Amino acid sequence: EEVLTTVKIEHELSQISFDTWLKPLTILKYDKEGNKTYILVPQGDMGLNYISKKYTLPIKVAIAEIAGIECDIEFILPEQAKNIVVEDAPKSPSALSNDIIEKSNLNPKYTFDTFVVGGNNKFAHAASLAVAESPGEIYNPLFIYGGVGLGKTHLMHSIAHFILEENPSTKVLYVTSESFTNELIEAIRNGNNAVMKKFREKYRNIDVLLIDDIQFIIGKESTQEEFFHTFNDLHGAKKQIIISSDKPPKEIQTLEARLRSRFEWGLIADISSPDYETRMAILRKKEEMDGYNIDDKVIQYIATNIKSNIRELEGALNKLMAFSNLENREINVALAEEALKDIISPDEKREVTPDLIITTVAEHFHVSETDLKGPKRSSDIVLPRQIAMYLCREMTDIPLEAVAALMGKKDHSTVINGCKKITEKMQSSESVSNAIEIIKKKINPG
Ligand code: ADP
Ligand code: MG
Repeated sequence: EEVLTTVKIEHELSQISFDTWLKPLTILKYDKEGNKTYILVPQGDMGLNYISKKYTLPIKVAIAEIAGIECDIEFILPEQAKNIVVEDAPKSPSALSNDIIEKSNLNPKYTFDTFVVGGNNKFAHAASLAVAESPGEIYNPLFIYGGVGLGKTHLMHSIAHFILEENPSTKVLYVTSESFTNELIEAIRNGNNAVMKKFREKYRNIDVLLIDDIQFIIGKESTQEEFFHTFNDLHGAKKQIIISSDKPPKEIQTLEARLRSRFEWGLIADISSPDYETRMAILRKKEEMDGYNIDDKVIQYIATNIKSNIRELEGALNKLMAFSNLENREINVALAEEALKDIISPDEKREVTPDLIITTVAEHFHVSETDLKGPKRSSDIVLPRQIAMYLCREMTDIPLEAVAALMGKKDHSTVINGCKKITEKMQSSESVSNAIEIIKKKINPG
């Protein structure tokens, strides 16, 4: 621990860099014979690569200072990656002046501090932070993709903020690909060389270019062409490029092959839909930032019913707050149901189906639905499978045979057995009875 904090102090690492890269490390042991220190890296392959590139030397130096030994360092991965990275950096609004924020086209709210890290985005988050710490050096371009409202723009702005906070004189520019296109069309229409020159100067004289929703320039030939040259110029000069899109490069059909291959030069990171825990964490973060104090049941109700999109999740919370303020009513689940009735349809909310149960159980235990319904006999699958059977029996009135069929079992005695096992375990194991309690709430929060 002392070694890691020494690295932090000597290299003036920001809290978030320290928390992300160094704090999770565990110094396992020092092997005297091989003169080697083993350090456990829970952050996965990419984390390991990055940390060993960037921090091997600083850690060596710190060990030498503290323990007086000069040894080699070996970073190793744990067998199983952790499910969720907990983020506990202190939060602070952007430290940048309004001037800089405006010039770079940034939203002051979109920083790493306000970004909740969960299983759905931890790779993209780590990649973004790595790029923010070493712009133009390691992953260039960084290509982030994922569906609407999942946090791509937020992450891009976070990178920009971070770079500017470290070095306010960096020329950072965030643009949507739409405004890039519009500016270009404007310059072309003008037919004036000076205007075109200005456009090119603007885009080629920057250190960090963030271009959001690249899918909009695809299919527009002249824009693709111009962007291709911009890309080459910047990349050749080791300037950082960060791109977002709704799809990975290989799935963008109309993307020119030469651009596609360039997008694949660097690192591609995806963001997927948040799981229940992450949705809860995001709502709690927002609640905390906005200074609300909302009953847990209400937060659970929203997190349970709005699944696909973080923008909608936030929208629901905002709408509920507005509703409560306007009508001057206390916030509870009943008010939430009323306020959010256009967003959350009552049918979806009330009807407990076996499919919903299976999906919820699979999500809770981080196993796939296929495994849950399949033949695997390992204990990490068998318990969730039995719980799913048990809940189907308890929460729906579908017959035993149908539950067996749904779970891929020929014989309904398997279901009877499974239910019996769970009834027993609920008596003997607190963790099982707690898990079932939580899953039931997720299925039916009312
Ligand atoms: P995208 O660009 O992928 O469509 P945005 O970055 O605009 O999505 O995110 C939509 C909204 O959700 C924003 O208000 C953003 O702050 C919020 N959001 C997304 N992901 C997170 C997260 N992991 N933590 C906190 N807020 C998030
Ligand atoms: Mg966006």
